[in-house]
Amino acid sequence: MMTISTVFQTFAMLKVEIYKNHRIEQTFINDTVPDFDGFALSKYFMPELILPVYSSRQCFNHCAFCTIPGATGGCYRKMPISRVFEIMCRLNEKYGTRVFSFVDETFEGKRMEQLADEINASGKTFFWHGETRFSPTLSTEVFNKIYQSGCRQIQFGLESYNQRVLDLMKKNTRVDWIDRNIHDCLNAGIPVHLFFMIGFPTETKEEALNTLAYTENVLNYSKQVCGVPYSTRGFTNFGLVMGSDVWNHPDKYGVSVMPKSQYEDLRLEVDYVSGTGLTLNEAKSLSDEHHIDFYMQEVINGSDTIDLPQRLHISVTHNFFRKLTTA
Ligand code: SF4
Repeated sequence: MMTISTVFQTFAMLKVEIYKNHRIEQTFINDTVPDFDGFALSKYFMPELILPVYSSRQCFNHCAFCTIPGATGGCYRKMPISRVFEIMCRLNEKYGTRVFSFVDETFEGKRMEQLADEINASGKTFFWHGETRFSPTLSTEVFNKIYQSGCRQIQFGLESYNQRVLDLMKKNTRVDWIDRNIHDCLNAGIPVHLFFMIGFPTETKEEALNTLAYTENVLNYSKQVCGVPYSTRGFTNFGLVMGSDVWNHPDKYGVSVMPKSQYEDLRLEVDYVSGTGLTLNEAKSLSDEHHIDFYMQEVINGSDTIDLPQRLHISVTHNFFRKLTTA
C-alpha cells in the first residue's frame, strides 16, 4: 500500500518539490441560482423532487469537536433572506420543485423566521427543512410561523444534555434553551432530529446515559403527546478529528492523542486515551448497545422489518442476532 510518506519519498527521488499554498479566506457567498440541468432528477428515490439550497456558508460557533469552522473556505457568511426566497422561487419555476433541503451548517433561528415571513406573505406552498442551533430567540410564535411556511423538520446539534459537558464542548447552549426549543418546536407540529455524541472527553457514563434517556423521552413525547411521529435521533461515539480544538489542545480536555500507524496517514480521526470519563472503547460499546436496544425495541413492538444501522460492526451484528434469538 502506498502511504503519504512513500509518496514523499518517491517525490524526493524524482526531485519534485511540493509547495503548500497559503489559506485564502473567502468572504463572499455564491448567490447564483443553482443549476441542476443534467442531473437525472426523476431517478432519485423520492416521492417528489427535493432540491438542496443554502442561505449561509460556514458556522459562527466554534465547538471544540468540530472542524467546520476551519473548513469551507473562510468565515461565516450569509446571503439576504430575500435572495434565498428568490432562489427558491426560481427553482420552483424551472424544476417545479416545492420541497427544499437547506444544507447550511447552521441556519440561524432568526433567519429561519425571516424566511418563514417571506414564504407566508407570498402565499406559496413550499416545504423545507434545515439544521439550526438551540437559541433563546426561538419561541412558540416563531415555530408556529415556521411550520406555517412549510418547515417539516428541524435538526438540532444537541451533542449532550449535560450543562457541564456542553460548556466544555464550547457549545454556547443552555439546557433550558434545549427544553424550551424542543417543546415549542414539537407543539408547533415540527418533528425534530437530535444529533448527539457519546464519550466527549471527561463525560461519565451517567452523563451519557442521561443524554440517551433524554432523547428517548423526547421521541416518546413527540409521538405520544404531540402526535408528531417523525422525530428521530442520531448518535455515535465521540470522534477526535484532526483540526478540532480537542486535537489542537488535548491537554485542555484531559486526553492524550495516540500516534497513527503508517497505514493511517490519510485518516482524519485519531485514537486517544482519556484521563477521566468514558474511554474510547467504553463510548463505542455504549453507543452500539443503545443502537441495538433501539432496534430490539422495534422488533419487540412488532415491526415486520427493521433496518440495521450501516455502521454496525460484524461483531455487533452478531450480538444483535444473539440478543434477538434469546429475547
Ligand atoms: S458543531 Fe455545529 S454549531 Fe458547532 S461549530 Fe460545528 S457546525 Fe457550528
